[in-house]
Amino acid sequence: MLKVLLTSQDISAGIDQLAAEITAHYAEKDLTIIGVMTGSIILLSDLIRRLDRRMRVGLIQARSYQGENTTAGHLQVNADMLPEVEGTHVLLLDDIFDSGQTLSELVNRFQKLGATSVRTAVLLRKDRPRDVTLTADHVVFDIGNHFVVGYGLDYNDEYRNLPHIAILPTQDFPS
Ligand code: 5GP
Ligand code: MG
Repeated sequence: MLKVLLTSQDISAGIDQLAAEITAHYAEKDLTIIGVMTGSIILLSDLIRRLDRRMRVGLIQARSYQGENTTAGHLQVNADMLPEVEGTHVLLLDDIFDSGQTLSELVNRFQKLGATSVRTAVLLRKDRPRDVTLTADHVVFDIGNHFVVGYGLDYNDEYRNLPHIAILPTQDFPS
């Protein structure tokens, strides 16, 4: 059984707030929002429709290598869908800030690509210790150290279509 952690109403109100923060921070700046695939797709589509301004949108796919811990340098990145970001302000958008390795590594990559600034926004941030120095610039919800699914987040590519965020109980993981 899945326990609902955040309802679709909670999420909607949170994204209104995130959109207001982004609008205030970037004002007239040349903004490119990059969604980290696949978990951020629903968040990306809901967020960008709340931003009434000129901006570019792109996607990057990042995942840690199968069977490896998420440690620095172990990220598989597909940048084929990336627009030109040199000289623009990049906002990386991801579903969840867990170990922080994914966004730390992506921030480095975008700095090397010549972005004028690189900042990060996440829907969820887990309460756990981290090795990385990066902190997410925009966090919609702080949650406990649970494994969550829904609203884009998956378990074995299932559950992404749930309109809410739910906790996947440990007994539902294969032992
Ligand atoms: P990181 O550990 O690098 O901060 O997060 C890596 C990725 O792990 C996230 O983008 C997300 O795809 C996945 N992840 C981390 N925690 C969870 C979780 O609780 N549920 C799901 N579905 N994915 C997670
Ligand atoms: Mg992800």
